[in-house]
Amino acid sequence: MEAAGIKKQITIAGGGLAGLALGIGLRRRGIPVALHEAGAYPRHRVCGEFISGLGDDTLGVLGLERVLEGAQQHRRTTWFVRDQQVFQGTLPEPALGISRFLLDQRLSESFRQSGGSLITRSRVPDENVPGLVWAAGRHRTKGHLWLGLKAHALNLTMTDGLEMHLGRGIYVGLTPVEAGRVNVCGLIRDASTTTAKGSEMFLELIEKRGLTGLASRLRNHDIDPDSFQGVSALAFGPVDTESPGCRIGDAHSLIPPFTGHGMAMAFQAAESVLPYLESYSKGSSDWQTTVESSQHSLAHRFKRRLQIASRLHPFLLGSIAQTMIGWSGRMGCLPFQRLYRAVR
Ligand SMILES: Cc1cc2nc3c(=O)[nH]c(=O)nc-3n(C[C@H](O)[C@H](O)[C@H](O)COP(=O)(O)OP(=O)(O)OC[C@H]3O[C@@H](n4cnc5c(N)ncnc54)[C@H](O)[C@@H]3O)c2cc1C
Repeated sequence: MEAAGIKKQITIAGGGLAGLALGIGLRRRGIPVALHEAGAYPRHRVCGEFISGLGDDTLGVLGLERVLEGAQQHRRTTWFVRDQQVFQGTLPEPALGISRFLLDQRLSESFRQSGGSLITRSRVPDENVPGLVWAAGRHRTKGHLWLGLKAHALNLTMTDGLEMHLGRGIYVGLTPVEAGRVNVCGLIRDASTTTAKGSEMFLELIEKRGLTGLASRLRNHDIDPDSFQGVSALAFGPVDTESPGCRIGDAHSLIPPFTGHGMAMAFQAAESVLPYLESYSKGSSDWQTTVESSQHSLAHRFKRRLQIASRLHPFLLGSIAQTMIGWSGRMGCLPFQRLYRAVR
């Protein structure tokens, strides 16, 4: 039994959105937290940098009301199939545009200010030990040939709100974020290597996949070389791991990025596991029960969203589907609002 009032420490591996949000939420409840982050802040991350499907209630529970202050609010979206504009529409709710450079930095400061112990450049092993929450992000698996790339273009003029470009085995999202920057993020299937490096490699791949208009538009603008990032061997869906434990965010499941829900899900995962970890810290439940309850709550919360997004994802990249999207978009019968709500 724990002595009355003594709280056990929670250790978090991974200082991305899920880990930092959880750390802040736990600190708000007076729970001691040590968070190990393999990297340091600020840093750019591969991400589309638009947040959709996140309610104020989640931010309130976690104490994150201010971290998204000043984020760009986007209400419109324009879709292109192989450089042809096929659809323009209004989002059912505003999506937020904010760089991970700024957001992760703000979260890390907020965690430190809340009294959390943040240990950067510290990589911890993946194991199920009592009190350890695994929030170390996406799982890379051999045999999964998805490549994610991102870079910031400076002062690019947008068509109307967020842009989505579909090409052969590629989709590229353009999101205006802060300070005149537009985040350009692409997901590419079976990307063969090119001799080019950095953002030029990204532009070459965009061009080779049939988005020549987009590539030349981007070439006419400066790209911040420091913002270029890539990640390979991505696997989508629930993470299949031999190391069970308490896992949140992408370490639990990775939703295909076109939904713009991965970041919202990282915050929501932190919200979902918070009461179970609080109860463990206060000595009201053991670790095994905490792990089971928290993983069950995540599976229940995200199952439907993950299933629908995983089915839509390969569809968006197929040429027949893209032709159908182009046709229905031009005819004004693309069921955009229905699709949006399906993955909400
Ligand atoms: C191409 C692409 C585009 C995307 N676009 C969007 C989008 O537009 N909108 C959206 O909402 N979502 C998007 N996502 C998803 C979103 O980026 C993730 O869902 C979100 O970052 C998950 O947060 P996380 O905290 O779980 O993981 P991360 O943000 O990846 O954080 C994990 C952290 O753990 C650290 N770490 C790793 N290993 C260790 C270790 N052993 N010990 C300690 N620390 C460790 C890492 O350095 C990292 O800081 C996209 C994803 C991809 C791949």
